Amino acid sequence: MSLQGKTAVITGSNSGIGLGIAHEMAKAGAAVVLNSFTDRDEDHALAREMADTHGVEVRYIQGDMSRGDDCRALVEQAGACDILINNAGIQHVAGIDEFPVEKWDAIIAINLSSAFHTTAAALPGMRKAGWGRVINIASAHGLTASPYKSAYVAAKHGIVGMTKVVALETAQEPITANAICPGYVLTPLVEAQIPDTMKEYDMSREDVIKNVMLTRQPSKEFATVEQMGGTAVFLCSDAAAQITGTTISVDGGWTAL
Ligand code: NAD
Repeated sequence: MSLQGKTAVITGSNSGIGLGIAHEMAKAGAAVVLNSFTDRDEDHALAREMADTHGVEVRYIQGDMSRGDDCRALVEQAGACDILINNAGIQHVAGIDEFPVEKWDAIIAINLSSAFHTTAAALPGMRKAGWGRVINIASAHGLTASPYKSAYVAAKHGIVGMTKVVALETAQEPITANAICPGYVLTPLVEAQIPDTMKEYDMSREDVIKNVMLTRQPSKEFATVEQMGGTAVFLCSDAAAQITGTTISVDGGWTAL
């Protein structure tokens, strides 16, 4: 599968799943635009390393995905955006009656509204280029719920719904829109949830991993960032040209339960 000549813009890609997807896109020959809200030397070094490893153009563009104008500017500054991967996301775990309002607003902005802004900015270019792929990184929490994750579950269900709308609005064009729904992947985002969950359930780290996180993942294994990247590359293939408006679960059987 060659993505040579295509440019993939991946929001929130200096870490975790976004970075894993970026590597798989670059490996398949796509030029890559990395993004996060920081502008550190190591962010730009990451882009240089990835370019050296895969022999493709890789740029890092700073942009805060909680801000609509930054989302739109990211797509504009990328120049080309054949493959848009809306991946940036944050999490906060608390009961709904104690959920901090600023956390609710930030999760809805970063995990949901950013994809509205980037998609709106990217579609005209995809239409002009005559090809496009919108890939939203939702979650098993886009299809099911868990306690203490009201904002996250709401945002992820929201992005699954928006994916369907984008697919219908582009159905007669060579553009597809789909959502990947990962189960648990051991990334910094998941790592950060462990202390709060330990507190909520009064459990050890090992018990939280085994009995809270992976309890709903029948495979009893974390999914990997490489598997998310491979699924995204597949969605860019000709075999996937008629796959649109749907979700692909990569969750070790979670949503089969
Ligand atoms: P992560 O914390 O490793 O990565 C999140 C990325 O988003 C980072 O690059 C971070 O810098 C970036 N980001 C955060 N706030 C941002 C902002 N305001 N602007 C720009 N970038 C921002 O987490 P991850 O686990 O790799 O999560 C990536 C996506 O996958 C998220 O949307 C998450 O909800 C989803 N997801 C993760 C899992 C999992 O188990 N790890 C499961 C299902 C879905």
